[in-house]
Amino acid sequence: MEGGRTAKAVDGVSFHIDRGETLALVGESGSGKSITSLSVMRLIPQPPGEILDGSIKLDGKELLTLSDREMRKVRGNDIGMIFQEPMTSLNPVFTIGNQIAETLIKHKKMTKKQAYAKAVELLKVVGFARAEEIVNEYPHQLSGGMRQRAMIAIAMSCDPKLLIADEPTTALDVTIQAQILDLMVEMKEKFDSSILLITHDLGVVAEVADRVMVMYGGQIVEEAKAEELFTNPKHPYTTGLMGSIPNIDEDVERLESIQGTVPPAHRFPEGCRFAPRCKHAMEQCTQANPDLLEVTHKHKVRCYLYDPAVGEGGHQNGTDE
Ligand code: SF4
Ligand code: MG
Repeated sequence: MEGGRTAKAVDGVSFHIDRGETLALVGESGSGKSITSLSVMRLIPQPPGEILDGSIKLDGKELLTLSDREMRKVRGNDIGMIFQEPMTSLNPVFTIGNQIAETLIKHKKMTKKQAYAKAVELLKVVGFARAEEIVNEYPHQLSGGMRQRAMIAIAMSCDPKLLIADEPTTALDVTIQAQILDLMVEMKEKFDSSILLITHDLGVVAEVADRVMVMYGGQIVEEAKAEELFTNPKHPYTTGLMGSIPNIDEDVERLESIQGTVPPAHRFPEGCRFAPRCKHAMEQCTQANPDLLEVTHKHKVRCYLYDPAVGEGGHQNGTDE
Protein backbone atom coordinates (compact mmCIF):
# COMPACT_ATOMS: atom_id res chain seq x y z
CA MET A 1 0.00 0.00 0.00
CA GLU A 2 1.43 3.36 -1.00
CA GLY A 3 1.05 6.44 1.16
CA GLY A 4 -1.72 4.77 3.11
CA ARG A 5 -4.27 5.90 0.54
CA THR A 6 -4.28 3.52 -2.37
CA ALA A 7 -5.12 -0.05 -1.59
CA LYS A 8 -4.04 -2.65 -4.07
CA ALA A 9 -6.90 -5.02 -4.75
CA VAL A 10 -4.44 -7.37 -6.37
CA ASP A 11 -0.95 -7.68 -5.07
CA GLY A 12 2.04 -8.85 -7.07
CA VAL A 13 0.09 -11.56 -8.82
CA SER A 14 2.40 -13.33 -11.26
CA PHE A 15 1.51 -16.12 -13.57
CA HIS A 16 2.02 -17.62 -16.97
CA ILE A 17 -0.35 -19.45 -19.24
CA ASP A 18 1.04 -22.02 -21.62
CA ARG A 19 -0.21 -22.62 -25.12
CA GLY A 20 -3.12 -25.04 -25.03
CA GLU A 21 -3.50 -24.79 -21.27
CA THR A 22 -6.64 -24.06 -19.29
CA LEU A 23 -5.71 -22.11 -16.17
CA ALA A 24 -8.44 -21.55 -13.61
CA LEU A 25 -8.48 -18.63 -11.21
CA VAL A 26 -10.71 -19.55 -8.29
CA GLY A 27 -12.06 -17.53 -5.41
CA GLU A 28 -15.10 -15.92 -3.84
CA SER A 29 -16.34 -12.59 -4.99
CA GLY A 30 -13.92 -9.94 -3.77
CA SER A 31 -10.93 -12.30 -3.95
CA GLY A 32 -9.40 -10.33 -6.80
CA LYS A 33 -9.88 -12.85 -9.59
CA SER A 34 -11.87 -10.63 -11.95
CA ILE A 35 -9.49 -7.75 -11.39
CA THR A 36 -6.64 -10.09 -12.26
CA SER A 37 -8.29 -10.94 -15.55
CA LEU A 38 -8.83 -7.28 -16.30
CA SER A 39 -5.20 -6.63 -15.59
CA VAL A 40 -4.29 -9.31 -18.12
CA MET A 41 -6.21 -7.14 -20.56
CA ARG A 42 -4.66 -4.06 -18.95
CA LEU A 43 -8.17 -2.72 -18.55
CA ILE A 44 -8.09 -1.88 -14.85
CA PRO A 45 -8.52 1.79 -14.12
CA GLN A 46 -5.20 3.32 -13.14
CA PRO A 47 -4.52 4.62 -10.58
CA PRO A 48 -5.11 3.12 -8.10
CA GLY A 49 -5.74 -0.29 -9.55
CA GLU A 50 -2.35 -0.78 -11.13
CA ILE A 51 -0.50 -4.03 -10.66
CA LEU A 52 2.86 -2.70 -9.61
CA ASP A 53 5.01 -5.74 -9.28
CA GLY A 54 3.36 -8.65 -10.98
CA SER A 55 4.11 -10.52 -14.17
CA ILE A 56 1.63 -12.02 -16.59
CA LYS A 57 3.06 -14.05 -19.43
CA LEU A 58 1.01 -15.37 -22.28
CA ASP A 59 2.81 -18.02 -24.27
CA GLY A 60 6.13 -16.60 -23.06
CA LYS A 61 5.26 -12.96 -23.81
CA GLU A 62 5.10 -10.51 -20.90
CA LEU A 63 1.87 -8.51 -21.06
CA LEU A 64 2.37 -6.07 -18.21
CA THR A 65 5.29 -4.25 -19.79
CA LEU A 66 3.85 -3.83 -23.29
CA SER A 67 3.21 -0.27 -24.46
CA ASP A 68 -0.42 0.80 -24.65
CA ARG A 69 -0.25 0.61 -28.43
CA GLU A 70 1.17 -2.92 -28.42
CA MET A 71 -1.41 -3.89 -25.81
CA ARG A 72 -4.30 -2.62 -27.95
CA LYS A 73 -3.05 -4.87 -30.71
CA VAL A 74 -2.82 -7.83 -28.34
CA ARG A 75 -6.34 -7.16 -27.06
CA GLY A 76 -7.84 -7.08 -30.51
CA ASN A 77 -5.87 -9.94 -32.02
CA ASP A 78 -4.68 -12.24 -29.29
CA ILE A 79 -7.28 -12.19 -26.52
CA GLY A 80 -10.99 -12.98 -26.70
CA MET A 81 -13.32 -12.53 -23.73
CA ILE A 82 -16.49 -14.21 -22.54
CA PHE A 83 -18.40 -12.77 -19.60
CA GLN A 84 -20.98 -14.08 -17.19
CA GLU A 85 -23.95 -12.28 -18.68
CA PRO A 86 -23.69 -12.07 -22.46
CA MET A 87 -26.69 -9.73 -22.53
CA THR A 88 -24.53 -6.99 -21.02
CA SER A 89 -21.60 -7.53 -23.38
CA LEU A 90 -23.65 -8.04 -26.54
CA ASN A 91 -24.99 -4.83 -28.00
CA PRO A 92 -28.80 -5.06 -28.02
CA VAL A 93 -29.25 -2.80 -31.05
CA PHE A 94 -26.99 -4.73 -33.44
CA THR A 95 -27.52 -8.15 -34.98
CA ILE A 96 -25.27 -11.02 -33.95
CA GLY A 97 -23.73 -11.00 -37.45
CA ASN A 98 -23.03 -7.31 -37.19
CA GLN A 99 -21.18 -7.79 -33.90
CA ILE A 100 -19.01 -10.62 -35.21
CA ALA A 101 -18.35 -8.79 -38.47
CA GLU A 102 -17.29 -5.65 -36.62
CA THR A 103 -14.33 -7.45 -35.04
CA LEU A 104 -13.31 -9.02 -38.33
CA ILE A 105 -13.48 -5.77 -40.26
CA LYS A 106 -11.53 -3.93 -37.59
CA HIS A 107 -8.88 -6.48 -36.70
CA LYS A 108 -8.67 -8.79 -39.70
CA LYS A 109 -9.15 -6.09 -42.36
CA MET A 110 -11.95 -8.01 -44.05
CA THR A 111 -14.54 -6.47 -46.32
CA LYS A 112 -18.10 -6.40 -45.05
CA LYS A 113 -19.07 -9.27 -47.33
CA GLN A 114 -16.13 -11.44 -46.26
CA ALA A 115 -16.83 -10.64 -42.63
CA TYR A 116 -20.49 -11.72 -42.84
CA ALA A 117 -19.56 -14.95 -44.60
CA LYS A 118 -17.00 -15.61 -41.88
CA ALA A 119 -19.62 -14.76 -39.20
CA VAL A 120 -21.94 -17.44 -40.56
CA GLU A 121 -19.06 -19.90 -40.61
CA LEU A 122 -18.15 -19.08 -36.98
CA LEU A 123 -21.76 -19.46 -35.86
CA LYS A 124 -21.74 -22.92 -37.43
CA VAL A 125 -18.49 -23.75 -35.67
CA VAL A 126 -20.03 -22.91 -32.28
CA GLY A 127 -22.95 -25.18 -33.04
CA PHE A 128 -25.74 -23.10 -34.57
CA ALA A 129 -27.60 -25.20 -37.13
CA ARG A 130 -29.53 -22.13 -38.31
CA ALA A 131 -26.42 -19.95 -38.64
CA GLU A 132 -27.74 -18.15 -41.75
CA GLU A 133 -30.74 -16.95 -39.73
CA ILE A 134 -28.97 -16.33 -36.42
CA VAL A 135 -26.56 -13.96 -38.16
CA ASN A 136 -29.49 -11.58 -38.74
CA GLU A 137 -31.04 -11.93 -35.28
CA TYR A 138 -30.72 -9.64 -32.27
CA PRO A 139 -29.42 -10.75 -28.86
CA HIS A 140 -32.89 -10.66 -27.24
CA GLN A 141 -34.13 -13.20 -29.77
CA LEU A 142 -31.72 -15.81 -28.39
CA SER A 143 -31.82 -17.88 -25.20
CA GLY A 144 -29.11 -17.47 -22.54
CA GLY A 145 -27.18 -20.48 -23.79
CA MET A 146 -27.42 -19.31 -27.41
CA ARG A 147 -26.20 -15.84 -26.44
CA GLN A 148 -23.19 -17.41 -24.73
CA ARG A 149 -22.49 -19.42 -27.91
CA ALA A 150 -22.71 -16.19 -29.89
CA MET A 151 -20.27 -14.55 -27.43
CA ILE A 152 -17.87 -17.44 -27.96
CA ALA A 153 -18.19 -16.96 -31.75
CA ILE A 154 -17.31 -13.27 -31.29
CA ALA A 155 -14.43 -14.13 -28.97
CA MET A 156 -13.02 -16.67 -31.44
CA SER A 157 -13.45 -14.39 -34.44
CA CYS A 158 -10.04 -12.82 -33.98
CA ASP A 159 -8.44 -16.27 -33.67
CA PRO A 160 -7.20 -15.47 -30.15
CA LYS A 161 -4.19 -16.98 -28.42
CA LEU A 162 -6.07 -16.59 -25.15
CA LEU A 163 -9.71 -16.88 -24.26
CA ILE A 164 -10.60 -15.21 -20.97
CA ALA A 165 -13.84 -16.57 -19.56
CA ASP A 166 -15.15 -14.77 -16.46
CA GLU A 167 -17.87 -16.89 -14.78
CA PRO A 168 -18.94 -18.00 -18.27
CA THR A 169 -21.62 -20.41 -17.10
CA THR A 170 -22.83 -18.90 -13.83
CA ALA A 171 -26.01 -17.47 -15.34
CA LEU A 172 -26.91 -20.67 -17.20
CA ASP A 173 -28.78 -23.75 -16.09
CA VAL A 174 -26.83 -26.91 -15.42
CA THR A 175 -27.27 -28.81 -18.69
CA ILE A 176 -26.44 -25.72 -20.75
CA GLN A 177 -23.44 -25.05 -18.48
CA ALA A 178 -21.89 -28.39 -19.45
CA GLN A 179 -22.46 -27.70 -23.16
CA ILE A 180 -20.83 -24.27 -22.95
CA LEU A 181 -17.80 -25.66 -21.06
CA ASP A 182 -17.42 -28.42 -23.65
CA LEU A 183 -17.68 -25.84 -26.41
CA MET A 184 -14.98 -23.67 -24.82
CA VAL A 185 -12.58 -26.59 -24.62
CA GLU A 186 -13.43 -27.65 -28.18
CA MET A 187 -12.75 -24.09 -29.41
CA LYS A 188 -9.49 -23.95 -27.48
CA GLU A 189 -8.33 -27.06 -29.27
CA LYS A 190 -9.64 -26.05 -32.68
CA PHE A 191 -8.04 -22.60 -32.51
CA ASP A 192 -4.90 -23.81 -30.70
CA SER A 193 -5.37 -21.23 -27.95
CA SER A 194 -5.36 -21.18 -24.14
CA ILE A 195 -8.07 -20.44 -21.59
CA LEU A 196 -7.99 -18.29 -18.47
CA LEU A 197 -11.09 -19.36 -16.60
CA ILE A 198 -12.31 -17.20 -13.74
CA THR A 199 -14.84 -18.82 -11.47
CA HIS A 200 -16.04 -19.38 -7.92
CA ASP A 201 -17.30 -22.82 -8.91
CA LEU A 202 -14.96 -25.71 -8.20
CA GLY A 203 -17.23 -28.04 -10.14
CA VAL A 204 -16.51 -26.01 -13.26
CA VAL A 205 -12.79 -26.07 -12.46
CA ALA A 206 -12.78 -29.85 -12.03
CA GLU A 207 -14.51 -30.14 -15.39
CA VAL A 208 -12.02 -28.22 -17.53
CA ALA A 209 -8.92 -26.86 -15.77
CA ASP A 210 -5.38 -28.14 -16.25
CA ARG A 211 -3.91 -25.91 -13.55
CA VAL A 212 -5.56 -23.94 -10.76
CA MET A 213 -4.68 -20.78 -8.87
CA VAL A 214 -6.76 -20.10 -5.77
CA MET A 215 -7.03 -16.40 -4.93
CA TYR A 216 -7.84 -14.78 -1.64
CA GLY A 217 -7.58 -11.14 -0.67
CA GLY A 218 -5.92 -10.18 -3.94
CA GLN A 219 -3.19 -12.80 -3.66
CA ILE A 220 -2.60 -16.30 -4.92
CA VAL A 221 -2.82 -18.58 -1.86
CA GLU A 222 -2.47 -21.91 -3.62
CA GLU A 223 -1.40 -23.09 -7.05
CA ALA A 224 -1.19 -26.61 -8.43
CA LYS A 225 -2.16 -28.88 -11.29
CA ALA A 226 -5.90 -29.47 -11.11
CA GLU A 227 -5.60 -33.14 -10.27
CA GLU A 228 -3.10 -32.43 -7.48
CA LEU A 229 -5.24 -29.64 -6.05
CA PHE A 230 -8.34 -31.77 -5.89
CA THR A 231 -6.64 -34.81 -4.42
CA ASN A 232 -4.34 -32.90 -2.08
CA PRO A 233 -5.65 -29.41 -1.26
CA LYS A 234 -3.47 -27.65 1.30
CA HIS A 235 -4.46 -24.08 2.07
CA PRO A 236 -7.23 -23.79 4.68
CA TYR A 237 -9.12 -21.50 2.32
CA THR A 238 -8.99 -24.06 -0.49
CA THR A 239 -10.08 -26.89 1.78
CA GLY A 240 -12.86 -24.64 3.05
CA LEU A 241 -13.97 -23.96 -0.52
CA MET A 242 -14.05 -27.68 -1.13
CA GLY A 243 -15.91 -28.29 2.09
CA SER A 244 -13.37 -30.98 2.81
CA ILE A 245 -11.23 -31.98 5.75
CA PRO A 246 -7.80 -30.35 5.65
CA ASN A 247 -5.32 -33.25 5.61
CA ILE A 248 -2.97 -31.35 7.90
CA ASP A 249 -5.26 -31.82 10.87
CA GLU A 250 -7.39 -34.93 10.64
CA ASP A 251 -9.40 -34.14 13.73
CA VAL A 252 -10.59 -30.70 12.68
CA GLU A 253 -14.29 -30.69 12.08
CA ARG A 254 -15.57 -30.54 8.54
CA LEU A 255 -15.63 -26.99 7.23
CA GLU A 256 -19.09 -26.84 5.78
CA SER A 257 -18.56 -23.31 4.66
CA ILE A 258 -16.13 -20.54 5.39
CA GLN A 259 -17.52 -18.04 7.84
CA GLY A 260 -17.33 -14.38 6.91
CA THR A 261 -16.40 -12.64 3.68
CA VAL A 262 -13.26 -11.43 1.93
CA PRO A 263 -12.30 -8.08 3.49
CA PRO A 264 -12.14 -5.05 1.17
CA ALA A 265 -8.65 -4.13 -0.02
CA HIS A 266 -8.24 -1.24 2.41
CA ARG A 267 -8.99 -3.53 5.34
CA PHE A 268 -6.67 -6.44 4.69
CA PRO A 269 -5.23 -7.58 8.02
CA GLU A 270 -1.53 -7.12 8.81
CA GLY A 271 -0.63 -10.79 8.71
CA CYS A 272 -2.17 -13.60 6.71
CA ARG A 273 -5.19 -12.13 4.94
CA PHE A 274 -7.20 -15.25 5.66
CA ALA A 275 -6.40 -15.27 9.39
CA PRO A 276 -9.70 -13.73 10.58
CA ARG A 277 -11.56 -16.63 8.95
CA CYS A 278 -9.03 -19.40 9.50
CA LYS A 279 -9.63 -22.19 11.98
CA HIS A 280 -5.90 -22.91 12.07
CA ALA A 281 -4.75 -19.38 12.77
CA MET A 282 -1.83 -19.19 15.18
CA GLU A 283 0.27 -16.46 16.73
CA GLN A 284 2.51 -15.65 13.75
CA CYS A 285 -0.41 -15.64 11.31
CA THR A 286 -1.51 -12.26 12.61
CA GLN A 287 1.99 -10.78 12.50
CA ALA A 288 3.24 -11.20 8.93
CA ASN A 289 1.78 -12.34 5.64
CA PRO A 290 3.18 -15.75 4.67
CA ASP A 291 5.02 -16.17 1.34
CA LEU A 292 3.81 -18.32 -1.51
CA LEU A 293 6.13 -21.32 -1.21
CA GLU A 294 6.57 -24.39 -3.36
CA VAL A 295 5.86 -27.13 -0.83
CA THR A 296 5.90 -30.11 -3.16
CA HIS A 297 6.66 -30.36 -6.87
CA LYS A 298 4.81 -27.51 -8.62
CA HIS A 299 2.42 -27.15 -5.72
CA LYS A 300 2.62 -23.72 -4.07
CA VAL A 301 0.91 -22.65 -0.85
CA ARG A 302 0.82 -19.38 1.08
CA CYS A 303 0.35 -20.66 4.63
CA TYR A 304 2.54 -21.05 7.73
CA LEU A 305 1.24 -24.57 8.27
CA TYR A 306 3.42 -25.62 5.34
CA ASP A 307 6.39 -23.35 5.95
CA PRO A 308 9.38 -25.42 7.11
CA ALA A 309 10.91 -22.27 8.62
CA VAL A 310 8.05 -22.11 11.10
CA GLY A 311 8.90 -24.35 14.05
CA GLU A 312 7.82 -27.95 13.56
CA GLY A 313 4.39 -28.67 14.93
CA GLY A 314 4.06 -24.96 15.56
CA HIS A 315 0.46 -25.00 14.50
CA GLN A 316 -0.38 -27.34 17.33
CA ASN A 317 0.23 -24.49 19.74
CA GLY A 318 -2.13 -22.38 17.73
CA THR A 319 -5.52 -21.05 18.48
CA ASP A 320 -7.72 -23.59 16.76
CA GLU A 321 -11.13 -23.41 18.27
FE1 SF4 B 1 -4.54 -19.94 8.44
FE2 SF4 B 1 -2.22 -19.09 9.40
FE3 SF4 B 1 -2.29 -20.53 7.17
FE4 SF4 B 1 -3.20 -18.03 7.20
S1 SF4 B 1 -1.08 -18.71 7.53
S2 SF4 B 1 -4.16 -19.77 6.25
S3 SF4 B 1 -4.12 -17.93 9.23
S4 SF4 B 1 -2.87 -21.20 9.24
MG1 MG C 1 -16.24 -11.39 -11.00
